[in-house]
Amino acid sequence: MATEAIERTRVLGIPVDALTKATALERAVELAKDRTTASYAVAINPEKTFAIRQSAELAQFVENAALALPDGIGVVWASRLLNGRKIERVPGADLAEAVCARSGVEGLNLFFYGAKEEASAAAVEELRRRYPDIRVVGRRNGYVEAGEMDALAQEIADADADVLLVALGSPRQERWIREYADRTKVGLCLGVGGTLDTLAGTVKRAPLAWQKLNLEWLYRLLRQPSRLWRCRRLLFYAAEVGARFLFVKPFARKTNKK
Ligand code: UDP
Repeated sequence: MATEAIERTRVLGIPVDALTKATALERAVELAKDRTTASYAVAINPEKTFAIRQSAELAQFVENAALALPDGIGVVWASRLLNGRKIERVPGADLAEAVCARSGVEGLNLFFYGAKEEASAAAVEELRRRYPDIRVVGRRNGYVEAGEMDALAQEIADADADVLLVALGSPRQERWIREYADRTKVGLCLGVGGTLDTLAGTVKRAPLAWQKLNLEWLYRLLRQPSRLWRCRRLLFYAAEVGARFLFVKPFARKTNKK
C-alpha cells in the first residue's frame, strides 16, 4: 500500500516535510524497495540551513530529496513561529534506526559506509544486538581512498543492498550520495552524520529525558565543547527566526490587510 502523500513545506526557504515518524518510516521502506532510482533522505536542521544557503549544489540536492526530515528542533520551532504550522520533529538518527529495526521483517538489505573502522564495527555489532533479525550485507569505514570510490560503489551494488547508510558528516555525505548513489543501485540512501559514533558509544547520545525536552543540541555541546564554534549557527538561526517573527511577519500581515 502506498504511503499517504507527504506535504512539503518551507522553513526559511528550505524544504521540510510535514510528517510523523511513522509516515517517514513507511515512506522510507517504500523508497528502499524501489530500486529503479536511488532516492535519498536529508535531515534539515539549523546548521544545514546555513550550509544550503551557501551552496547552490547542496540546495539543489535538498530540493531533489525524496524526504526532507525536520531533524532539528530549531526547524520545528521556526515552522511554528513563522508559518503557524506545527510539525513533528523526525530526527534522521531515529529514522535510520527504525529502518534498521524493520529491515528483517521487510527483507531490506543494509550497507553501512562511514565513520572510523572501530566505530563502524561496533555500531553494526550494537545494531545486531538490538535487532537480531537485522539484515546487514556489508560495511566500510569512511576513510576509503578517493581512487577507490568506483570500486566501493560496485561493492555496494554487488552486495545487493536496498538501503545505504552514509555516515561521513555533512556536507561530505551529501556530496558522496550525489555523485555515487546511482551506481550503488540501492533504493534509498540515508545520510546519518555521526549516528554510527553514537551507536558505537564513542559519542554519547543525550539521555532520553534531554531528548524529550528537545535539549539534545545542548547535551552535544556540553559533551563536545569543540562543537561550540559550529553551534554558533544555532544562535544565528534563533536570531533570524526571532527577528522575522517580530518584524517581518507583522509587517506582512499589515500589508496583506490593506
Ligand atoms: N567521517 C568519515 N570520513 C571522513 C570524515 C568524517 O567517515 O572522511 C565520519 C567521522 O568519523 C564521524 C562522522 O563522519 O563518524 C562525522 O560526524 P559529525 O558528528 O561531524 O557529523 P554531523 O552529525 O554533524 O553531520
